[in-house]
Amino acid sequence: MIAPGSTIGIIGGGQLGRMLAVAAAQLGYKCHVLDPDRDGPAAQVSARFTRAAYDDVEALRAFGESIDVATYEFENLPVGPLEVLGDKLRPSTRSLAIAQDRAREKAFIEECGARVASWRAIASEQDAEAAVAELGLPIVLKTRRYGYDGKGQAWIRPAEECAAAWRAIGEEPAVAESGVEFLAEFSVIVARWADGRHTFWDSPENEHGAGILRRSTVPCGDAVALQVAEAREAAIAIAEALDHIGVLTVEFFASRDGPVVNEIAPRVHNSGHWTIEGAVTSQFEQHIRAICDLPPGPTDLAGGGAVMDNLIGDEVNRWPELIAEPGLHVHIYGKGEARPGRKMGHVTKVIA
Ligand code: AMP
Repeated sequence: MIAPGSTIGIIGGGQLGRMLAVAAAQLGYKCHVLDPDRDGPAAQVSARFTRAAYDDVEALRAFGESIDVATYEFENLPVGPLEVLGDKLRPSTRSLAIAQDRAREKAFIEECGARVASWRAIASEQDAEAAVAELGLPIVLKTRRYGYDGKGQAWIRPAEECAAAWRAIGEEPAVAESGVEFLAEFSVIVARWADGRHTFWDSPENEHGAGILRRSTVPCGDAVALQVAEAREAAIAIAEALDHIGVLTVEFFASRDGPVVNEIAPRVHNSGHWTIEGAVTSQFEQHIRAICDLPPGPTDLAGGGAVMDNLIGDEVNRWPELIAEPGLHVHIYGKGEARPGRKMGHVTKVIA
């Protein structure tokens, strides 16, 4: 067990790191953040900060010596340099390596017995054309690496859009996947301990706009509720196969044929932000508990449910009005510029 008073390393300095550091502080831990940018959201609330590139092995080695356990809040990290952290890194680099490559991720999910949309790995425009011929339309191309919040994605609706879509994703190795006609989107958020104990939260129903999460609602609607049990089985099979320690999020489409995995995130997730006020133990605290091997906290709803809305780009400028609304929990991430599409904060309303 890693006791309160110890230091937790967080690789990545964004809002997820910030909320992890706040949860860790409540339990008496100190956090040391490593990030290439100065003064990011997580560094602002942490005891120590190292500004270093994610592939700076010497900086990672020194960071590793300064902490008792390390975790990551961001999956686009080069895996090799992280090996210097050895067993101190939780979850391990295995979860990271699989989640950061969409082709490996899909093959792995299928090996775990879960459903994904029909897909092909592609590396050329000809491959994209072949995928269209084999899978039918519509199809979405997604770069294998470095995609997030809808970036690195392009749809092919009529087949003539194939060349343009290939160019739009930067002509990079990608997956071509069938468009899923979903009834709704939802996620399963699971926290797993090294000995296999695990906890789930109620599954949020998630609404996206332009590839970015806009709203998560708990409890989910009926269409999703009918699929949660099967989706949880898939999520735990994935977590077991990864030997994952900490929070793992699996995003699903609720289709007419049952739950279809969209992607996995080996970390706390935007669709779990509602747990801060809406559940007895938040995803952030539970992640700290799991990586430090403290006992699991209860994950029941704190009220009747919750609605979480992201504040994207200049929506954060609405803060005076939002902060004046009784019972609305306002989170502002302390990022500099409110660029379009940038997640600047979120608000949560707990339903009585
Ligand atoms: P992703 O970055 O893969 O999570 O995709 C962002 C959003 O785009 C998803 O949450 C869906 O709303 C939509 N999307 C992605 N892939 C598909 C698909 N195969 N079929 C239908 N919608 C999709």
